[in-house]
Amino acid sequence: MAGKDDDGTSGFPDPEEISRKLSEFLKSSFGDHVTFTTTGAGENPFANVPDTSGEDHDLRDEEENDILDFDLIPRQIKSHLDRFVIRQDEAKKALAIAVCDHYNHAKYLHRLEEEDPEAARAIEYAKQNVIIVGPTGVGKTYLVKHIAELIGVPFVKADATKFSETGYVGGDVDDLVRELVRKADGDVELAQYGIVYIDEIDKIASSSHIGGRDVSGRGVQTTLLKLMEETEVPVRNPQDMQSQMQAMFEMSRTGKASRESINTRHILFIVSGAFSGLEKIIDRRLRQGPIGFATDADTSAAEKDKEPGTQDFIDFGFEAEFIGRLPVRVVCDHLEAGDLYNIMKHSEGSLIRQYEREFEAYGIHAHFADAALEKIAADAALEKTGARGLMTVCERLLRHFKFELPGTTLTELVIDEALVENPPAVLEHLLAQAGPVGDARVISEIATFRRKFEQDHGVRLTFDNDAVARVGSLADERGQSVLQLCEEKFRDFHFGLQLIRKNTGQKTFRVTSEAVDDPDRFLSNLVVASYRGGTEEPGAVG
Ligand code: ADP
Repeated sequence: MAGKDDDGTSGFPDPEEISRKLSEFLKSSFGDHVTFTTTGAGENPFANVPDTSGEDHDLRDEEENDILDFDLIPRQIKSHLDRFVIRQDEAKKALAIAVCDHYNHAKYLHRLEEEDPEAARAIEYAKQNVIIVGPTGVGKTYLVKHIAELIGVPFVKADATKFSETGYVGGDVDDLVRELVRKADGDVELAQYGIVYIDEIDKIASSSHIGGRDVSGRGVQTTLLKLMEETEVPVRNPQDMQSQMQAMFEMSRTGKASRESINTRHILFIVSGAFSGLEKIIDRRLRQGPIGFATDADTSAAEKDKEPGTQDFIDFGFEAEFIGRLPVRVVCDHLEAGDLYNIMKHSEGSLIRQYEREFEAYGIHAHFADAALEKIAADAALEKTGARGLMTVCERLLRHFKFELPGTTLTELVIDEALVENPPAVLEHLLAQAGPVGDARVISEIATFRRKFEQDHGVRLTFDNDAVARVGSLADERGQSVLQLCEEKFRDFHFGLQLIRKNTGQKTFRVTSEAVDDPDRFLSNLVVASYRGGTEEPGAVG
């Protein structure tokens, strides 16, 4: 940035110099009360503040058009969510509809503004902000995150308790909107179509059962209300000296003021919370309702009555105006053990894949048996923290395995029922089997080779202990890297293995020390066996 002369700014002192001078000036005038931070040499000292001066114009237009090209239908959004989120069907549907309506309207209005600004201003629209009620760890954030990713809009998550803790909330709440600009890489236009997600919204209720928060709770509701409605938020925090300086600097450089504020009209607000106690309020309402004999026709109406309504939220401690700005009400269900099992087994973002990758990095192929998943799910359900319980249980279960196994010759870990029931015994058994600690470098290079081999050829190799030792010593003898040696030794291996796969369906093959010594012979024995209608040890794994 320093000395940038080709944009007509020659003669203008470079930002580093300005920032140094300013910093000296501020220090001498105000002591340590006011600070002015500068970044590393050669960087723009204002670099972390969104640059809206117009240099990124092309990118902005492109991304803005993405929103203007929005053409998803609710069904498509739901099926996208189904890939990641288990259960919560009603929430998926309601969110999908709210999001489609919101972005279709934004698109319509944007077109109209270009054709007939007068008519666009006259359009009335009630924004479909959403309130999600549900216990912790059941996928509330996960749903919103995946929706934002699918649509390609910036997404900011905040915690409502932060607002009430500060007591003085104005600045904080506006920061949410500025954070959207940061997430959109400084693209103010795109940020104006972003999604703000606020969790723990129940904590800013001002009812007596939330004790002590009455005043600030109501205060935060009022501030948030303005934001949800329509307001202009300055792109730069008025209290932030650094960003104000950037504005000054930009103005002197370009001769014009940059975009100053973000309008919140098209920002979609989604708030959520556990709302414990809300069921009691609903129950009370139902008990106080008209008494009489229910007919069949009343049943679905009765079901509907169980959903939280405006009055229930008001009784819980929300201002009517606040809750009125959140017209879409969604309930996320509690997750049972069976759901937790499905999350591990079927969700694309499953924690199990994460564990497999983590072990794979140490050259260990981890496999979770179904019976183990069922047991993990049952244990996790007892934690009562939704899907978060899965992480707690798996971490407890596998911590010692993750510490002890890397660096040994072990390359396979089957997480089965026995392991879940008695982890120390299984670990001890495995360590006894693993023999002497192998060379970590050899193991990790073999892991790299195996990963690549599987990616390229669709068949998996596992190396037994002797094979690992043999590969290590051969590589040393020849002065080759382990990876080079494997690539050379097993260059044509995949032809034979793919043939066997075709014959028998076998996908995983065990490499023994004989295979390392004479790969051709090893392979031809396997191929012959596969034509005889079966696989023969030592290559067969399953
Ligand atoms: P909360 O409901 O408290 O917002 P999250 O959505 O943050 O919970 O869930 C925490 C993690 O648990 C998610 O990142 C996801 O991996 C997993 N998870 C939670 N609920 C589900 C679900 N219904 N389906 C799949 N994964 C889920």
